[in-house]
Amino acid sequence: MPARMAGMTRLLLLLMLPALLLPAPARAWSAQGHRLVAALAEAQLTPRALSDVAMLLAVESEPTLAGVATWADDLRRSDADAFKRTASWHYVNFPSGTCAYRPERDCPDGNCVIGQIERQRAILADRRLPVAQRRDALKFLVHLVGDVHQPLHAGNRPDKGGNGFQVSLRTDLKPEAYAQKDYVDGIMGTNLHSVWDYYLFASTRLSLPGYAARLGMQTGTSKVPTRSADPAAWATGSCKLLDARQVYPRSHRMDSRYLDSQRPLAEQQVQLAARRLAELLNTALDHQ
Ligand SMILES: [Zn+2]
Repeated sequence: MPARMAGMTRLLLLLMLPALLLPAPARAWSAQGHRLVAALAEAQLTPRALSDVAMLLAVESEPTLAGVATWADDLRRSDADAFKRTASWHYVNFPSGTCAYRPERDCPDGNCVIGQIERQRAILADRRLPVAQRRDALKFLVHLVGDVHQPLHAGNRPDKGGNGFQVSLRTDLKPEAYAQKDYVDGIMGTNLHSVWDYYLFASTRLSLPGYAARLGMQTGTSKVPTRSADPAAWATGSCKLLDARQVYPRSHRMDSRYLDSQRPLAEQQVQLAARRLAELLNTALDHQ
């Protein structure tokens, strides 16, 4: 399809540029995953939505969706107060044994990933609001739509989204400097959340442009349904994957077999997040 090809070309150009400019630091996959979602989404934007995105992000140092995809996490360092205020926006916790969403119970005052996707979407779509406010809304949406598709960001176990599920991972992938103290004799002491944020994807050793191109090609033929604009349904869908797809391993010891068995699911979630993010932005920016 010509539209798809144009999108792919744009995607590759978008991705190649930062890759050429930057050295290749060992980025946390949480960063790489968010950038993948954003780049795949940007390739699916309508011309109108794309020009609005360009206008809103004009002041950014890397004015693309991928360039702002980790801003909401980066607040932890750049603006600690803002991060504290928004930390609960990155996830939703369901009670044990259910994935059904009850806003008053699971999302008091809208301070969870579902409530904030709805709130930031309304801000982005409202052209009467100041550009700076709509810019922040766009940056939150790019990030939070990625987060809500990571199954451990919409969990129903009392372990802080797998952060409390300790794992010994046999891997030859050396961790980043800050984590090297936990890497002994080829075994990484980590937790399930980190395995999903980093190791599932980093273990492919694909570059960001290479990975995005591969997932972008697959998106063209994917049959995964996306026609839902309801973030509560997205979160419930993520939560149900925990049991349906055995995201929690039986043992706390794991190796590449776990990574290989779960990677297709993680990649599917990245593609689904990208398509839903594109639909959300196209609807918010293209319909007025
Ligand atoms: Zn996050």
